Amino acid sequence: MGIPVWVPRGAPAAGASMPATLGSEQAPVPAASGDGGGLGWTELERRVAGCVACELHRSRTQTVFGTGSREADLMVIGEAPGADEDRQGEPFVGRAGQLLNAMLRAIGLSREEVYIANILKCRPPRNRDPRPEEVAACEAYLHRQVELVRPRVILALGRIAAHNLLKTDAPLGRMRGRRYTYSDTEIPVVVTYHPAYLLRNPADKRKTWQDLKFAQRVPAPR
Ligand code: SF4
Repeated sequence: MGIPVWVPRGAPAAGASMPATLGSEQAPVPAASGDGGGLGWTELERRVAGCVACELHRSRTQTVFGTGSREADLMVIGEAPGADEDRQGEPFVGRAGQLLNAMLRAIGLSREEVYIANILKCRPPRNRDPRPEEVAACEAYLHRQVELVRPRVILALGRIAAHNLLKTDAPLGRMRGRRYTYSDTEIPVVVTYHPAYLLRNPADKRKTWQDLKFAQRVPAPR
């Protein structure tokens, strides 16, 4: 189909550091050092599972940490767990998840070959938008996940993910087709529609296909 193949990465460490704390009720997380310091996967997952740094811990069934290959070239980041994800403890498992899987297959990737996470690890009640204080409390976890995976490119799914990853309020339509970088790293970020939006607006699947192809063409971090 003329689709570029993901090549093994030889990219250097992202060199990013973590926010100093995770919230007032949470012990500070050690900042990552340039030689790979900071929390490893096991400790990070344990911290998330017990996190009470924002109000969302009161209503969750369980935290939703992330899933997939921890050496993935592509990291997919969505908004927050929904009802299915809250029940199963895994991101993108409902109908939107099935569509995400199909989107990935369309570019030659299985779900297991990418790493999938959300901005928030706990479900907001009635799927309301994340609040700024919740994002602030939770973002150190995602930042560390990005550091550990060191993907070649991040795919931001939907407006909420894009706005919070890139600290902007630009309309999603204007963000498509551009190469951004994540936080203080050189890791490219590409923006596309959220699968839940595509379920309601299937005509935009074609644009999403273009975004996925664009993500595959984006140069890796130097
Ligand atoms: S959403 Fe994030 S910061 Fe809030 S309780 Fe859950 S894991 Fe902690």
